[in-house]
Amino acid sequence: MAESIFDGALSRMNDASKYTTVKQSTLDRLAHAERELTVSFPVRMDSGELKTFTGYRVLHSSIRGPGKGGIRFHPDSSLDEVRALAFWMAFKCAVVNIPLGGAKGGVICNPKELSKTELEKISREYVRAIYDVMGPDKDIPAPDVYTTPTVMAWMEDEFSKIARGNYPATITGKPVSLGGSLGRSDATGTGGFYTAAEAIKALGKDMKTATVAVQGFGNAGYHFARLMHSAGATIVAVSDSKGGIYSKEGLDPDKILNAKKQAGSVTAFNNATMMTNEELLELDVDILAPAALEDVITTANANKINAKIIIELANGPVSPDADRIIDEKGILVVPDILANAGGVTVSYFEWVQNRTGERWTLEKVQKRLKEIMVAEFKELHMLSEEKKISMRLAAYVLGLKRIAEAFEAKTG
Ligand code: GLU
Repeated sequence: MAESIFDGALSRMNDASKYTTVKQSTLDRLAHAERELTVSFPVRMDSGELKTFTGYRVLHSSIRGPGKGGIRFHPDSSLDEVRALAFWMAFKCAVVNIPLGGAKGGVICNPKELSKTELEKISREYVRAIYDVMGPDKDIPAPDVYTTPTVMAWMEDEFSKIARGNYPATITGKPVSLGGSLGRSDATGTGGFYTAAEAIKALGKDMKTATVAVQGFGNAGYHFARLMHSAGATIVAVSDSKGGIYSKEGLDPDKILNAKKQAGSVTAFNNATMMTNEELLELDVDILAPAALEDVITTANANKINAKIIIELANGPVSPDADRIIDEKGILVVPDILANAGGVTVSYFEWVQNRTGERWTLEKVQKRLKEIMVAEFKELHMLSEEKKISMRLAAYVLGLKRIAEAFEAKTG
C-alpha cells in the first residue's frame, strides 16, 4: 500500500497527467494543500473531566472557488487522511463541474461514546477554533462520516453567533428548517444510484435482475440500497462496522434500518445469514458498493473481488495499488469522485439557495442532480472508452484538466 493516503491520491493524479498537457508547475501546486490547520480545544465532559480534542481543517485548493467539503468525527481521523480527503473534494467538485474548491475537516473523537451535550460542545468548540478560515466565500463545511444535520445546525449557529449575523451559506447539510436543501440528506446515495443505473446500462445489464452488496449502512449506504431496491434490484447483503448479513432472496433496506435503529447494528436483523465485512466484499454480485471508509479493497483482497461493477460511495475505498488488479479483472469501477459526488452537488444547490434567498422544490433538486450525474457519467465513460483507460483514470483526467485550466488561467 502507498505510504500515506495522500501520496496514494497524488499517484492517481500523476498517472492521469500523462493523458493531459498540464504543466509540471501546476502538478507541483496540486501536490500541496493551500492551507492546513490543526487545532486543539478543551471540552468539559459530562463527568466533569476536562478533555482536550484535536481537529483539522485542510483547504487543498480554492482555485475553482471557495473550499468545500465535509467534517468527519472519527477516532482514526488524521492530518494525512484529511489532506487526502480535501484533495479528493477538489477533484470531485471539478468532475461534477461545480464552482467550488476542495477542503475537508476532521475531529479525533468517537461519537458513539459521547453524549449529545458532549457532541454539541465539540461541534461548537471546533467552529470557534477554525472560525477564521470558514465562511461562505472562503470554506464551506458539510457533513461526513458520523456528522449529521444537527451537528451542522450547531456549527452554523456558533459561526453566526461569533459573526453577529446570519450566515446560513457558511455550512451545508443543515436541517431544512435552517435553510438546508430539500434532497440533501439522501443526495449521496441518490447520486450513487443514478451512476449505478448508468453503469448497468453501459454493461448491457438489467436493473431488475441485478444483485447488490452494500458495505457500510450509514446515510449513503442506506439510501443507495433503498433506491436500488425500489428500482427492482436485489440487495443480497449489507454490513456495518459490527458485521454483515446475507440473504439470497434479498433484503428490504427499510426493515434493516429499523433493526439497526433498535439494536445499533444491521446484524440484529433476524431473517438473514451472518457474514463478515470481508466475505461481503468478495461476493459474486453485479454491484458492490463500498460505502464506509478508505482502503477496504487493497492488494490483500483485490484478487478475490467478484463484483461486475463497483460503485464507490465511500471516499477512497480501493487503495491505489489495488487499481491495476481490479482493472485486469475487468470490473467497471465508478470512482468515488463521481459516484459519491451527489452529496456535494446538492450542497452546492444549498449554498446557491442560501445566497439567493431561494427555496428549490425537491423536484428541481432531484432533476438537476440527475442531469449532472448522468451527464458526467457519460462524459467519463466516453473518455475511458476513447483513451482505453479506466473510469477512475478518466475522472482524474477530466478533474485535472478543469482544475489546471483555472489555475493556468490565473498564473499565465
Ligand atoms: N462529505 C461529503 C463528501 O465527501 C459531502 C461534502 C459536501 O457536501 O461538501 O463528498
